[in-house]
Amino acid sequence: MTVTCPTCAAADETITVRKALLDPDHPFDPPTQELLSMPPEPRGTAGAAITLFVLAGLFGLMGLPTLFTDADGGGGSSDAAYQAGYHYGASLIAAILLGIGLIVHSHHRRRRSETANQWPQTYDQWQQLHRVWRATWLCRRCRVAFLPAASLRPDFAASSAIPVTQFPQWTLTIARQDDDPGAPITSD
Ligand SMILES: [Zn+2]
Repeated sequence: MTVTCPTCAAADETITVRKALLDPDHPFDPPTQELLSMPPEPRGTAGAAITLFVLAGLFGLMGLPTLFTDADGGGGSSDAAYQAGYHYGASLIAAILLGIGLIVHSHHRRRRSETANQWPQTYDQWQQLHRVWRATWLCRRCRVAFLPAASLRPDFAASSAIPVTQFPQWTLTIARQDDDPGAPITSD
């Protein structure tokens, strides 16, 4: 597939963004590499909170049998602390883990609501962005990015060239327009 640059009309320095990032012969400087890279996949419920909930559940199960055994097993006052620890230790650890898990979870939810305007938030939206990203070409001579005609859809009109510095915002805008069927992306 020969793709010509909208700026210099040549095809000798055009390459997909994906291939350009992997090309060992033409490495980008770190800021450009960062600009052209895909953002990381959005994550669902915080993995840390899930781990804590699972641990809390396990300790809770361990604590159940000791709670129902006879607490007054003839122990003197000297080992009362040991008795209490034996009977309630696992339950206490479960309660602490559950508490930490709830804090982590609510912190994660608060962060999500704070970044409500951020996009992509869901995996589907991220895939939408990834689709645009994969279709994007670069001209290494002009340091511009562009979408060739029919790159996203058969009826997709070629985009104009945009400077590499605007690449992240530009791909986000296109992916979001594509995400919303009501918003026209092309005017042909
Ligand atoms: Zn060019």
